[in-house]
Amino acid sequence: MDEWEPIPLSRLAHAGYCLRRAALLTNEQLWQESADTAKGRKEHERVHAERVERRGEQVLLYEYQVYSRCLNIGGKCDCIEAIQNPHGCRIPAVEFPVRLYPVEYKHGKLRDEEEYELQLCAQAMCLEEMYDTEIAEGAIFYISTHRRKLVAFTPELRQKVTETVRMLEDIRRNFTIPAAQSGPKCVRCSLRALCMPDAARSAKAYCRRLQQEAVKEDVS
Ligand code: SF4
Repeated sequence: MDEWEPIPLSRLAHAGYCLRRAALLTNEQLWQESADTAKGRKEHERVHAERVERRGEQVLLYEYQVYSRCLNIGGKCDCIEAIQNPHGCRIPAVEFPVRLYPVEYKHGKLRDEEEYELQLCAQAMCLEEMYDTEIAEGAIFYISTHRRKLVAFTPELRQKVTETVRMLEDIRRNFTIPAAQSGPKCVRCSLRALCMPDAARSAKAYCRRLQQEAVKEDVS
């Protein structure tokens, strides 16, 4: 039996948001639903159902399983748009050659969130490996406003995907959890109550103060 346990694609988005958050999910299986994550999940459930839709020269593959053995990642793509093209690749369930275009669904309004670009690029890198093809760009579709943000899969973004996967592998292998870096991102983080970033910071400050006091006593 294949015991391969790839890093989940969604974990890259968490890591892009906050590495500690991704580590808490990986090593302590912590999860807490917030109003934001609940809304996102509900919106996703409406579009998330494994199916194939045909529209002329275009085939839409929803909830499509992808993986990369080279990168050690795997998961599902919300939607792959497979567009007929004589120079494209061959994929199961489609009888003509196609160019592939991954689309990731997110709730809310159009916004810049690099962590989702990482996740989307990782999906494209999986598809490239699976079907020996090249994918130059994809899109993030914001469900509430029906707006698309195009994402170019630049060498820099690809490099960042690779580096993030290596960091996640390291976290999983060594069972580490990076220290909390409290910041504006924590305000909307659903793990805030479990992570306690301010408490971690004050605990650190408390230890530092104890050390300083010990040094003072030594020299007095
Ligand atoms: S509360 Fe802040 S430091 Fe903690 S996991 Fe969330 S974003 Fe990261």
